[in-house]
Amino acid sequence: MASPTIPNPSTIKPKISSNVAIVGAGAAGLTAARELRLEGHHVVVFERESKIGGLWLYEPNTDSDPLGIDPNRKIVQSSLYDSLRTNLPRESMGFQAYPFVETGLKDRDQRRYPGHKEVLDYLEDYAKVFRVSELVRFKTEVVRVRMVEGGKWEVKWRGLEKRVDVVEVFDAVVICNGHHTEPRLASIPGSDKWPGKQMHSHNYRVPDPFRDQVVILIGSSASASDICRDIAGVAKEVHVASRSVADQTFHILPGHENIWLHSMIRTAHQDGSVAFGNGRIVNADVIMHCTGYKYHFPFLETNGIVTVDDNRVGPLYLHVFPPALAPSLSFVGLPLDVAPFPLCECQSKWVAGVLSGRISLPSMEKMMESIKVFYTKLGASGIPKHYTHNMETYQFEYNDWLAGQCGCPGIEEWRRQMYYASSKRQLAKPETFRDEWEDQEWILQAYEDFKQRAA
Ligand code: FAD
Repeated sequence: MASPTIPNPSTIKPKISSNVAIVGAGAAGLTAARELRLEGHHVVVFERESKIGGLWLYEPNTDSDPLGIDPNRKIVQSSLYDSLRTNLPRESMGFQAYPFVETGLKDRDQRRYPGHKEVLDYLEDYAKVFRVSELVRFKTEVVRVRMVEGGKWEVKWRGLEKRVDVVEVFDAVVICNGHHTEPRLASIPGSDKWPGKQMHSHNYRVPDPFRDQVVILIGSSASASDICRDIAGVAKEVHVASRSVADQTFHILPGHENIWLHSMIRTAHQDGSVAFGNGRIVNADVIMHCTGYKYHFPFLETNGIVTVDDNRVGPLYLHVFPPALAPSLSFVGLPLDVAPFPLCECQSKWVAGVLSGRISLPSMEKMMESIKVFYTKLGASGIPKHYTHNMETYQFEYNDWLAGQCGCPGIEEWRRQMYYASSKRQLAKPETFRDEWEDQEWILQAYEDFKQRAA
């Protein structure tokens, strides 16, 4: 497909052009950089790694602490396992500005749910086509971000090659540091005395180390679903413990001989045994926590204005702006259970437009009031604090609202329908959803749309 036309930044007349620091060059940081520059801002992206891509930069090495508890451990950003294929169809996963389509190139993965390398290649194409890489300072780790006189932001960064610390001042900072690196763990009574190996899925790469072992996985996420099948090919037994099934649950996974589904683990014991809520007891070698991640901003100093409380980053107006520091501090990419690329794109357009003064935010009091109402609603619906950024039920309405603010087209109907069809298939047919589908009509519409936009 032909490359999309790149609008000339000089044809856009922003009210204010800000000097903006972006932390991270993953999917969120890349789209933030593109959108902010399009709006006329001056952008610097700080990236700790030597390449763009963030999570999609597969790293065979893992953290030095497999559970991710030791604060001084060597940390690896990526949580990808070798066999990982996307859990969304490429058409609905990609950015609106740059369709994620088959390239037809020989060395590329043409599958609709491609392997992780294809996503990295796509992000590299995006960065090249929109000349985003030139904005990135690689091998620079942001070690402190804090507000200084005049409402400006001081960014202290460390050059990882020359080991130098440098301080620079910016008008605004956009935080895009990702949130799939700091493991969240399940609490298991007795696990401190349990003699087996415990780890988090963040540190899972390949099945081989689990050959002939008895492995317990905790969780019911996409990772647990993939990894239990990956490991079952070599392991003796795989037991999946889930909080979201009935207490008595105990059954073999259809189509498998050595994967059992249980209710949650009740206790772990010194003799190596593990008891489940369903009364079953298993002697296991490994417990793997596939239990998600914590938001973590070790570099951010806001005097307590922005906090992370039980995985709620707050207070944030619509998951982006802390009212007391808006618009000069913003977060792109926090929402969970979404198609992150198009969502980050919409959030980035919003941040860009608000920073230039083209789009207005409500007063600080009104934003705080709206956050209060939101938190009250979550509480009244029994939704735990740590689900604050879960947007499973309203991501597209949210994107459309942002698009409306920015004066750009909302989420395409085909994208929405494809996303829901895929999520449904993933639940009903976890073995085959990546290779068999029935949403041909939406695929045709997507490609028609891409063709029209490229013309
Ligand atoms: P990241 O990709 O994590 O990027 C953050 C960047 O910030 C990194 O490059 C990091 O090095 C940098 N950084 C962090 N701290 C600093 C610092 N202090 N200084 C400088 N740089 C820093 N999404 C999909 O759409 N489809 C999928 O199929 C899919 N599968 C997934 C599978 C797994 C196992 C996981 C964990 C997530 C998956 N996701 C998927 C979600 C995925 O997280 C998003 O697609 C997206 O990659 C997130 O981008 P990000 O930019 O927010 O974060």
